[in-house]
Amino acid sequence: MTENGDAPAGGASESALDEDLRVPSCERCPALVESRSRIVDGVGPTDADLLFVGEGPGAQEDEQGEPFVGRSGDVLDDALRDAGLARADVRITNCVRCRPPDNRDPTGEELANCRGHLESEIHRLDPELIVTLGKVPSEHLLDRSVAITAESGEVVDARIAGASRRVLLSVHPAATLYDRSQRDGFFETIARAGELSGTAGGESGGQSRLGEF
Ligand code: SF4
Repeated sequence: MTENGDAPAGGASESALDEDLRVPSCERCPALVESRSRIVDGVGPTDADLLFVGEGPGAQEDEQGEPFVGRSGDVLDDALRDAGLARADVRITNCVRCRPPDNRDPTGEELANCRGHLESEIHRLDPELIVTLGKVPSEHLLDRSVAITAESGEVVDARIAGASRRVLLSVHPAATLYDRSQRDGFFETIARAGELSGTAGGESGGQSRLGEF
């Protein structure tokens, strides 16, 4: 959505909006500037109703310049497909846009440094639903500690980027690679995300069901 709530009128304006969401240069986090190959911006439609937020780029994301590629991305793609969705239907971004060294978690300072980029993206998209993929983005956006395995699948309201937003908590897709028992729950959460946001063409018939929660 545009700031006045209208969808972009066409391809050219959407492209301009997408360009507007890119971070062409930023050097706020010295350690990440040192370890990154590039800034990894969010991907997907700029009017998507469903926004996935991960922690930050890993090695493959840093190499390819796209969030959630590699094995974790494959799991997410499988879950989206299972839910009747495609990657092209949703927007995917991260809390920090530069790869931390040795795949460590981003520090609180780095998360805070990049918060403005994330909030700009959320504000411009104004999605129906945000899905946090993992403990770090869940705690960052809800501003509290989260027991992600226990809370995965829960929908909560949080004030983010100047408005009250619906947030669906989820484990990180990589969790299903380390613990196969989490796979069914992860797939169910992604299916719920599609249904709640009205993005999936399933039982909801493409209408958001968030008003029921
Ligand atoms: S992680 Fe975000 S704030 Fe830090 S250098 Fe990269 S783009 Fe800038």
